[in-house]
Amino acid sequence: MTFDPEKLDFDKGGGLVTVVAQDAADGAVLMVAFADREAVSRTVETGYLHFFSRKRGLWKKGETSGNTLRVVELLSDCDADAIVARVEPAGPACHTGSTTCFGEPDADAVRTLERVIAQRAAEPEKAEGKPSYTRRLLGDRNLRLKKLGEETSELVVALADGNKAGATEEAADVVYHLMVALHAAGVGWNDVLGVLRKRAR
Ligand code: AMP
Ligand code: ZN
Ligand code: ZN
Ligand code: ZN
Repeated sequence: MTFDPEKLDFDKGGGLVTVVAQDAADGAVLMVAFADREAVSRTVETGYLHFFSRKRGLWKKGETSGNTLRVVELLSDCDADAIVARVEPAGPACHTGSTTCFGEPDADAVRTLERVIAQRAAEPEKAEGKPSYTRRLLGDRNLRLKKLGEETSELVVALADGNKAGATEEAADVVYHLMVALHAAGVGWNDVLGVLRKRAR
């Protein structure tokens, strides 16, 4: 990791800097704590977030819980007394078991959809009644690819017609069928966002 702890200003905070841990995948703020020079050095050396606690001294996040925070990138703020640590969490960041110390992050509709699709995929087959539409798509490669093509064509037609309301509906249909097809292919939404982020640089 190329981050120089010596560039930080520990004096202003009585030997400490503020550390904001942010999920590198979705930007959620996970937790806030403090680090002294040693904790920042340990973080840089090990690639895992370390803090300083007045009670416990040097503290590796996740030492007992296993819910470590692997550092992807460290950013210092304008006056070098605070750090944003972009991390990959191994589990809930809060000791209460919550994903973040500020509650469960607001999931956007695409992420919620991704989770529902994963749940449908994991559900046992219904004993009676017909399977959910999502399960039918997941179980039939030709059907889901045909539907994705159809919905894309419907979107193109709506856009060609200048049909704003229709295009909005069809775009939602495309996103749903896209997410089902990506799930079946083992591609996560974060993978797609990762490619977009790289291209934006
Ligand atoms: P851990 O570092 O996850 O192994 O947790 C060990 C202890 O550190 C917990 O019992 C809490 O006292 C404290 N702790 C862990 N995570 C947090 C957090 N996000 N905010 C405040 N305290 C924490
Ligand atoms: Zn500052
Ligand atoms: Zn917490
Ligand atoms: Zn449609």
